[in-house]
Formats: sequence, structure tokens, C-alpha cells
Amino acid sequence: MITDQAELGWHAALDALPEMAWLADANGSVVFLNHAVCDYTGLDATHALGPDAQQLVHPDDRAAAQAAWHSSVAARTPFAHTLRLRNREGAYNWFVVRGRPVAVHGDASGGWSGTAINVDRRRQAEQQRSSLSRDLELERARLRSIVDNVPVGLVFADGPAGTIVGGNAQAEQILGHALLPSPDVEAYSEWSGYHADGRRFESNEYPLARALRGELSVEEIHYRRGDGNMVWIRVSGAPLRDAAGTITGGVIMILDIDADKRARDEQATLLRSEQTARGEAEAAVGERDALIASITHDLKNPLTVIRGQVEMLRRKAPDMAVEAKQEMTRRLGQIDQTVQRMVTQIDELIDVARLRAGQTLDLQHKPVDLADLVRRVTSAFAATTALQEIVFEPGVEQLMGVWDENRLERVFSNLLSNAIKYSPNGGIIVVRVELEQHQQGRWALVTVRDQGIGIPSADLPNIFDLFTRSDAHAGSYAGAGIGLANARNIVQQHGGTIEVSSTEGSGSTFVVRLPLPNDE
Ligand code: ADP
Repeated sequence: MITDQAELGWHAALDALPEMAWLADANGSVVFLNHAVCDYTGLDATHALGPDAQQLVHPDDRAAAQAAWHSSVAARTPFAHTLRLRNREGAYNWFVVRGRPVAVHGDASGGWSGTAINVDRRRQAEQQRSSLSRDLELERARLRSIVDNVPVGLVFADGPAGTIVGGNAQAEQILGHALLPSPDVEAYSEWSGYHADGRRFESNEYPLARALRGELSVEEIHYRRGDGNMVWIRVSGAPLRDAAGTITGGVIMILDIDADKRARDEQATLLRSEQTARGEAEAAVGERDALIASITHDLKNPLTVIRGQVEMLRRKAPDMAVEAKQEMTRRLGQIDQTVQRMVTQIDELIDVARLRAGQTLDLQHKPVDLADLVRRVTSAFAATTALQEIVFEPGVEQLMGVWDENRLERVFSNLLSNAIKYSPNGGIIVVRVELEQHQQGRWALVTVRDQGIGIPSADLPNIFDLFTRSDAHAGSYAGAGIGLANARNIVQQHGGTIEVSSTEGSGSTFVVRLPLPNDE
């Protein structure tokens, strides 16, 4: 209620304030609201002071606000209460309403003056802040659980000094000690990491130190664990930056790669020794080839001398007594045969040396009756064995071609001597010579079939390779794996083929095909 001039002046002053202001009488009834209140609520002063006034306070805040106000009025103590007030759009804002008792004209039971400050924005900001910090808290907890549960070691440092501020249990487990509370990069020198060459890591070489300098890096470090054992670890470091991109710290990830690294090293060592062994083997093979070549040539000369001597002794024989002459002729014949076999074997070795050196054979072509050649070889071998029966089946009486006779003789000698050698229980060995005619031309066919031990099917594909023998025979039968390789070489250089079929335990069949001129 306006009572005097002074009060009028006061109202005008309050109306001029941008903040809400109010006056109440000693009983607590609001008697004046300034312009700012009317602006905010959209009510004129009469309504705002009337029964509508109650409606301005949020229904949820009303009872508490009234109770607080009544108790302040009763005790005449300053009033302060936070409540929501409705604005002209019907929305509520938070206000802090404050009131103080005023003495009018020295009367201690005078009225009240107060303000209402809109704190809605501040409150919203506070709410936002608290929800933000809740989010942050949540985020931090989530991060912590990730850090604690990843299967790698993690260590964090704050920049720029490099103070270790945290890490996870996995890091401690891999390193075998608690995280050292290093205050700065200098202190990283206490970590016992070594390079592959045994040099100790400098403090500023560690990926964490490099991360603080803004570098991404990965190092394999030989680390002395807390228990003294050396382990290989892989450490990768990355800088941590704030939103502006400034480096705030660094993080490292530690992996235990000890088992992997050892396996890798072992593999490398194995590979190296394998390479050395292969190199040595190749060198040995080279030496062997060179040796074969030189020995064969060296051996041939003395044999030629022996044969010459035998021949000379034969010529001397006419002067001797008949019996002695017969005896000597027989023995000389044996010597000659033996020497001849050695010459054949040496010739074979010379061919092997050629084969190994990738050279072709110097074939001595001349007209040869193959039927006759095979017959001769067969009967020569038949004379050497009683265990097997050797049968010659000529499909043709004569089979003329132009071939290297000595070498073909060697081919069939090899096949026959194998048939005998690999038939330890006897059996029949059949040798056939045939003429094969078909559209592709005319072929001379020689078949050697035995009933011996046969060849395991797994060994068949390589049986013609040089120095290759069946494992099933290598222990029990003398041999060097040269004969068949030579036979194939000779046959192929004549334009022919050699094939084998065999059943282990029941025998083998070798078939040689040599091309014949069409007009014969
Ligand atoms: P070797 O001197 O070992 O007999 P070859 O080159 O003549 O050499 O033969 C190679 C291998 O082929 C032999 O070691 C043997 O395992 C197998 N082989 C050759 N001929 C026969 C055969 N008639 N019966 C069984 N196995 C044979």
C-alpha cells in the first residue's frame, strides 16, 4: 500500500531495476511487485498481487515455498528459497527468491523487501555440468574396464615430463615387476630393455619417450623381467593429444612375443643350417661328379694295358705243352672277361659323367641285327646263373637297324643282370625281340620279364633317375642306381623309349622301343 512520498520514490526506483523486486508487509503479504515481475509473468500488478499470485509458483514448489516464507516472517529472519515461477508463455524458470525484513521509520515490525533472481540458465548449466561429469565418470569407468581387460600391457605417461601415471596389471605381469613410478623420461633408464645386439636402451629411445615427442614407434625389446628372466616384448608407443592436437602424454602397448620370437629365430637358424647343408651337399655332388669323370679315365688306361698283356701271353701260348697251354688259355680267357666287364662298367661311368654334365653321348652308329645282339647277351647271362631259367623268344629272326651296338648291349646287359639280381628265388626270365608296326611307324621291341621281387609302385615313377634305388632293395642288394639311368639315356638318344611295369612280389617287365626306318 502506498503510504507516503518516500515510499512512492522507492517504488519508482524498484520499478527501474532490471531484476525482479518485491515488497511485503509485516504479515508476509506481498504488497508490491516491480515491472520486471509483470514483464516476466505477463500479469499486471493488480493480478500479480491478487489470488493469481499463488498460481505463478510451480505446484510442486508451492507448499515448501509457503512454509519457508511463513517461518521467515514469523521469526523475521532473512528468507531465501529456490523455486520455479511461471512466465508469460506458461513455462517455468528457476528463481532464487530472497527477502529481508525492513524497518519502516524505525519500526522493527515493518515489512519485507526482496528480489527474485532468474537462475534458470545457471541451474541448467549446473545440471548440464553434473550430467556431463556423470557421463565423464561413466566414460572413465568404461575406459578403466577396457584398460584392465585388454590382453596387452598398457602404460600411460603425462607430458611433457613423461611422468608415469598408470597402466594395467597385464603390463606388470609381462614386465614381471610393478610399474616404476618414473617422474620423467630420464628415469626410464631404470627399465632394463636391450636391443638385439645386446646394447641397453637409452631412456629416450623407449617408445614411450618417443610418443611424448609426437612419434609413433614399435620396438622389439629384450627385457630383463623382475624375476631376472630375459623375454622378448614388442612395445608400440603413440602420443596422446587433446582436442587442439597438443601432446598431453603418451601411451605404450606391450606384447609378450617371446615364444613367437624364439620360434622365428629357431626357424631362421634352421633355414641357415639347411642352406649350408644344401650348399655342402651340392658341393659334394659336384666333387663326386668330377671324381667319377677323372677316375674313369684314369682307370681305362691300365685296363687297356692289361688286355694288351693278355693278348701277348695268348700269342706266346703255341710254344707251350698242350695241357699247360689249355690251362693258360682258360685263365687268360677269365682275365680277359673280367677286364672286359670292368671296361664296360667304366664306359658306363663315363656316360654317367656325361649325363651329369648335360652332354650328349658320342653314339657310334653302325648296322646292327638287334635279334642277334639280344640273343648273344641273353645266352652270355644264361651261362652265369643256374638259379633262374632264362628264355629267349625271338619274334623275328633278324631285326636290322643302325644303332650304337656297344651301348645297346649295355642296355640289355643291365636289364638282364637286374632281372637275375632281383629274382633271388629263381623263376623264369623271358626275353623277347619283336617288330611292332602301327600308324606311328615301325618299332623294334625288346621285353625283359622276370618273376622276381618287383618294385613298390611308389618307387616306379623315379626308378630311371640317376642314383635312385628302391628303398625296399637298397639294404639287401648291391647296386648304385646307375644302370637304369644309363639305359634310359642311351635308349632316348636313339630316339626310343624304355618303360617298366611291376607288381611288388611278382616280378617286373621292362620294355625297350627303338624306332626303325619306315622302308625296311
Ligand atoms: P642298381 O645298381 O641299384 O640295380 P639300377 O639303375 O639298375 O641300379 O636299378 C635301379 C633300381 O631299380 C634298383 O636299385 C632296384 O630297386 C630297381 N630295379 C631295377 N630292376 C629291377 C628288377 N628287375 N626287379 C626289381 N627291382 C628292380
